[in-house]
Amino acid sequence: MAEQKRDYYEVLGVDKNADEETIKRAYRKLAKKYHPDMNPGDKNAEEKFKEASEAYAVLSDPKKRQQYDQFGHAAFDGGAGGGGFDFNNMDFGDIFGDFGDIFGDFFGTGSRGGRASNGPMQGANVRASVRVSFTEAAFGCNKELELVLKDPCPTCGGSGCKPGTSKVKCTKCGGTGRVVTTQRSLFGMVQQQSVCPECHGTGQVIPDPCPDCHGSGYKAQKKKIVIAVPAGIDDGQSIRIRGKGDPGINGGPRGDLLVQVSVAKSNEFTRNGYDIYSEVPISYAQAALGSSIIIDTIDGKVEYNVKAGTQPGTRVRLRGKGVPTLRNKNVRGDHYVTLNVVVPRTLNSAQKAALRSYDEACGGTLSNTKKAHSPFGRKK
Ligand SMILES: [Zn+2]
Ligand SMILES: [Zn+2]
Repeated sequence: MAEQKRDYYEVLGVDKNADEETIKRAYRKLAKKYHPDMNPGDKNAEEKFKEASEAYAVLSDPKKRQQYDQFGHAAFDGGAGGGGFDFNNMDFGDIFGDFGDIFGDFFGTGSRGGRASNGPMQGANVRASVRVSFTEAAFGCNKELELVLKDPCPTCGGSGCKPGTSKVKCTKCGGTGRVVTTQRSLFGMVQQQSVCPECHGTGQVIPDPCPDCHGSGYKAQKKKIVIAVPAGIDDGQSIRIRGKGDPGINGGPRGDLLVQVSVAKSNEFTRNGYDIYSEVPISYAQAALGSSIIIDTIDGKVEYNVKAGTQPGTRVRLRGKGVPTLRNKNVRGDHYVTLNVVVPRTLNSAQKAALRSYDEACGGTLSNTKKAHSPFGRKK
């Protein structure tokens, strides 16, 4: 606890004489930047957020600010169990009001719970993943997925109530979904609003739960569904299937099913966007004399005429032989083929003899280096 604490003004980056409005603005900026919802898993951001929140809690309260100005951090040390700043007891109602959504339930005070949970809410999204082959991704396919999906309970129709009974107003919160507790803290009495633990913010309770779903209102079942993977999808992209997520709450719409697609690597093709790349080996004779060759594409085999004098590593384009675009499958990328001129590792005697006579025709580079003429012609 002997940790060095930064000055609250410094934390917020404001002057010692800053007015309330300036302090609020400074905090708002920091809170948005470091809020845990914006920086999931980032411990440093979380610390920064807590630090800023603590500074704001003190400096935004004239009485506490005065104590702080007078005694520094010592003003709040000692009392709250060893100097830790217990800001769960602080009243953040004002700030929550200002910031709305971004605060979520970070402090566990349920700022969100009481707001709209009485009304219809969309069900949660369900995530799944599917693996497809390179060509399945290029041309699209149908895939069967086995998922645990929640459906409204047929016995109670999703109400969660035993047939013939219905929900009643929650007595703990009087139907508001929120409860206000008053706690003693270092700074006096603090009011805190939280989600009603009895009805979880819905304002209603089930007196007689449905025996079939135990009051949840839904049944979770393993189900096979077929999803259409669109042509042109790429590795890591997701397909959203509306209305296949969890059932809505209080009559709200169902959530969505988000299926992330992973595309298997191909042995012969690589992909960049909608373009495809591959390599094709050709012989020295084919490169030098020109030749018709067969190239594998995702459409199957394609004939291509290699020009005479083709250099190793030449890249040719097969227009429109790439991956169909997601927006319009008739619009496609291109397929780029690198022509690799291959030097044979072994030769039979007839091939050796032919190459020697070829060499002689070039001036005999093998026997006499002085007389040698380059077979490749003169470079300009
Ligand atoms: Zn039921
Ligand atoms: Zn309640």
